[in-house]
Amino acid sequence: MRVLVLNCGSSSVKFAVIDTVTKEALSSGLVENIGVDGHIKAKGPVGKIDVHFNCPTHAEAVAEMQKFLLEQKLIDSIEAVGHRVVHGGKYIKAAPVTKEVIDYLRSIILFAPLHEGAHATGMEVAKKFFPTLPQLAVFDTAFHQTMPRKAFLYGIPYKYYQELQIRRYGFHGTSHRFVSAETARILGKNPEDLNLITAHLGNGSSCSAIKAGKCVDTTMGFTPLDGLVMGTRSGSLDPAILFFLNKKLGFDIDRLDRLVNKESGLLGLSGLSNDMRTITQKAAEGHEGAQIALEVFCYKLAREIGGITMALPSLDALVFTGGIGENSAVVREKALENLAIFGFKIDKQRNLESGKNSGHIISTGGSRPLAMVVPTNEELLIALDTEEYAKSIKK
Ligand code: AMP
Repeated sequence: MRVLVLNCGSSSVKFAVIDTVTKEALSSGLVENIGVDGHIKAKGPVGKIDVHFNCPTHAEAVAEMQKFLLEQKLIDSIEAVGHRVVHGGKYIKAAPVTKEVIDYLRSIILFAPLHEGAHATGMEVAKKFFPTLPQLAVFDTAFHQTMPRKAFLYGIPYKYYQELQIRRYGFHGTSHRFVSAETARILGKNPEDLNLITAHLGNGSSCSAIKAGKCVDTTMGFTPLDGLVMGTRSGSLDPAILFFLNKKLGFDIDRLDRLVNKESGLLGLSGLSNDMRTITQKAAEGHEGAQIALEVFCYKLAREIGGITMALPSLDALVFTGGIGENSAVVREKALENLAIFGFKIDKQRNLESGKNSGHIISTGGSRPLAMVVPTNEELLIALDTEEYAKSIKK
């Protein structure tokens, strides 16, 4: 089946047409700068496009994508639409796109202000453009809904969970789910027989503890700000630092929000960049800020992994994924050095070559637990979920 996977952001629409049989993307692209100066960059079987166009709203963005997919001779073959949604709130699994779902996402806008409104608008627009196709919302938070209460509650008065649903939700769930299933497939094991830590390291980063195929703890929290040091996000932080900055420097809520979400992480620590390629390169050249950022990133990664590993009865493998996890041998090596207590033995050559020769195991033959690299593919999993849903309603 051919499935259109949509990821609507506040000013962008990312899309891909996935063939669920070959598991390949036949076309992919991005419309950005919606509301400012629309720009579509996309490729497909017939060719590429890279043009600016008048794009005041998401409707024009989806129309431009539809025009492109028509030119690529793909539009008529699409049988279903899958939507990536950052925050699913109460949803414990993917849900068909209905008015109720759209209204619910609008009602939890405060949970993920940059995303939920855009997802809801994107779904309304997609419903208008593809009225006859089955459409499914796939939530980044859903995979984490199996966490036990002791893992998802914060140590604040219980009434804030009951009345305002303040709890750990976790994100990147589609990636953690895909990578854990893929790891089981690669190892020729049943997911129920494996205990894993998956480390999704990209611009946003999170780790999950996965026991017998189910998430039992994760590092991101009520929002994607919690946990690891990221590109521009601080990760976990003593909340009293915010009170202190408010009192000392007069920072208000918006200023603090910008500080911890946009000015911190690798960027804030290095004073140089949020991009791990730049950080590792400059660190190797002796840039002190880059060295500090790399050191803190890898140490906090190990520290968070150490923390959530106690949710597992044993550990079979630590699996790296995401832009950094799949590509940075330096980060993997440093993280594993910090995790020596678990008994990892890295094979330096395999670590350098992973991704290039698609070898997945980067630990030595005798090493238990295994250290692995498994590329993520969130779009594929959304497409497969959507296919399953589309087939189920045809029956
Ligand atoms: P993602 O958000 O998953 O697309 O990942 C983006 C991050 O991956 C950025 O910090 C990139 O610098 C990083 N990344 C991509 N390729 C490499 C590489 N070869 N070495 C180090 N970091 C990389």
